[in-house]
Amino acid sequence: MSGSRTRGLERPEENRRPSPSGAELAPRAVPILTYHSLDASRSVISVDPRVFASHMRRLARRGFTGIPLSRLLAAWREDAELPARPVVITFDDGFENFFDCAAPLLTELGFGATVFAVAGYLGRKNDWRQAAEVTRLPLMGMDRLRELARRGFEIGAHSVSHPRLTKLSAEALEREVGDSRRILEDGLGLAVPCFAYPYGALDPAVKRAVGGTYSAACGARLAVARPTDEPCELPRLDMYYFRGGFTHRLLCTRPGAAYLALRGLGRRLRARAGRATPDSLLATKGL
Ligand SMILES: [Zn+2]
Repeated sequence: MSGSRTRGLERPEENRRPSPSGAELAPRAVPILTYHSLDASRSVISVDPRVFASHMRRLARRGFTGIPLSRLLAAWREDAELPARPVVITFDDGFENFFDCAAPLLTELGFGATVFAVAGYLGRKNDWRQAAEVTRLPLMGMDRLRELARRGFEIGAHSVSHPRLTKLSAEALEREVGDSRRILEDGLGLAVPCFAYPYGALDPAVKRAVGGTYSAACGARLAVARPTDEPCELPRLDMYYFRGGFTHRLLCTRPGAAYLALRGLGRRLRARAGRATPDSLLATKGL
């Protein structure tokens, strides 16, 4: 994904000038967005495809360029150039609806993205242990993932069987982390350097195992990512919280970052108080 078409989009003058109020984020802070399934079931993992399209078109209009995670990391590591307004777009679980709903639009906009696939469930449904009310939907098989990689999308790993990694023995943890990379790399014939923790669940042992196998990994902390973040605990913005829409200011200004920080704090407090949030729903229901 070159992003060259997006660079050619008309960009409002205001976006080319430094913010007069100095309210823009530090230039290398980059939002990493998380989507799961694009479908109309309104489940905790679903964003309506029309809402997703409105998110992407709004980003393009505001001069953002969607990039895969490894491009951001290369830029941070090697000080390589990023587009003027980069945003990393990620999809967990590898739903078939990514291929039908997201890939064509992302390609049209010149956006890259990363899909985190569950290596032991390729071509199956998301019927790992989870609540009955969550829609079971088809997941992409290796042929689809290969086709996406050919089109320039990045494939990352999301474990073998989507367990909560913090609950596993050391041996099972090694299998989930290492085998998912091996299965995907064997099938794709490509390096798979990125990982997403199922449920965002991690502890020091999980992080050590993932850090020893992958260059980078995404958790579920709600914040805009910065070069100073640990590469194996990158925060993301779960789009479940923005299904009603969001403004570009949320992603690229200090007031937006402050709002996200508050929102993240509220979510942690609710989780601590035992009230349901999407992450705690996903975790308690085994999604
Ligand atoms: Zn997942």
